[in-house]
Amino acid sequence: MDLLKKIYVKINQESPFENEAKYVLVLLRVLYLAEMVYGLAFALLTFPVRSMVWAPELLFYAGMIACFCLTYRVKKRTNLIIYGVFQTVWGVFFVYLFGWDCGIQHFMFSLLVLSFFSVYDALKFKLLLTVSLFALRFGMFCYCRVFDPVIELPGVRIMELQILNSLILFVRMAVICGFFSSNIETAEQKLVLYNERLEQLASLDPLTGVWNRRSMLNYMERYRKAHPTEAFTVAMGDIDHFKQVNDCYGHDCGDAVLVWLTGMFQEYLGEQARICRWGGEEFLFHFSEMNGDEAYRMLVDLKNHLNGTCFQWEENEIPITLTIGVEENDFQSELSELIRRVDEKLYQGKNAGRNRIVY
Ligand code: GH3
Ligand code: MG
Ligand code: MG
Repeated sequence: MDLLKKIYVKINQESPFENEAKYVLVLLRVLYLAEMVYGLAFALLTFPVRSMVWAPELLFYAGMIACFCLTYRVKKRTNLIIYGVFQTVWGVFFVYLFGWDCGIQHFMFSLLVLSFFSVYDALKFKLLLTVSLFALRFGMFCYCRVFDPVIELPGVRIMELQILNSLILFVRMAVICGFFSSNIETAEQKLVLYNERLEQLASLDPLTGVWNRRSMLNYMERYRKAHPTEAFTVAMGDIDHFKQVNDCYGHDCGDAVLVWLTGMFQEYLGEQARICRWGGEEFLFHFSEMNGDEAYRMLVDLKNHLNGTCFQWEENEIPITLTIGVEENDFQSELSELIRRVDEKLYQGKNAGRNRIVY
């Protein structure tokens, strides 16, 4: 059990190179191991007739082990080339030794699939490889039509080798396709999660965590389209003399005020209002299914609470006030027009002395 675990860990070992995913290396290691088992079966099947020709078999094993070890040392791309070259060399050589009917040439199909899946090269490279493999296969076929194999095997052995070679082809194909398809699935899942996270980040204000202007505008557009006859109200709030807070207590204090106020908005307006940080110290509120009077009452409650409390910063108690403009949907004006009017009311409130709601 321990040995199996060790083998598993060894096969799964990361690439020694930074920024290189291990999965192609893991795939090659699994393929090399499968090839070794295959090599053993091949040797057993051909054993009775080739007691004199063990050198190719030994070379095959030595090469396989060396290639396996290289997956821990050289780059992914080099490993892929090594695997391709190795397969091609011994494939061609074994066809030369045992003939076409043994089916050794099937290795080319798995090579083709592997190259198409894993090499991030231009299509022309892949097409070139396809043509080259076809030419090689055709060349070998023609050769075998003219020349007899070096080692003549009895008919039953040829059939067994044909079965073995078909089997290893299926194993290679299943391993390669299985690896890449599960890898694509994992990458896809990661991408979906990453996109969701990105979308979330892009829609929220990083400081306060409430919507930013873009999300609010999107929401309001969608709301109007989905509920064309529904009342709603927008309100724009701006902190009074906020610059002085920054100037007197520092920018960090200003930031903390923005976070603190957002918390208060969420507490006092709750689910009934969508809150967005419209700009620096300006907030836009959208009250769905609510007329101006209802929204105004909620904002008065909020303002009364704010006026009755102070923001604590170190030993300081800082009074914070807001000026707010309120505008009800008139079912005619464009959204931009409603926002322009609510902004105008906000500035009327500023000009009239601040700390008030203009409705
Ligand atoms: P008024 O009552 O007329 O609104 O005065 P004000 O000082 O609030 O308005 P003004 O437009 O003069 O200044 C806004 C200040 O808000 C200036 C800017 O430094 C500050 N501010 C904007 N965004 C942030 C922020 O994210 N953090 C902090 N700390 N300050 C900000
Ligand atoms: Mg201000
Ligand atoms: Mg402002």
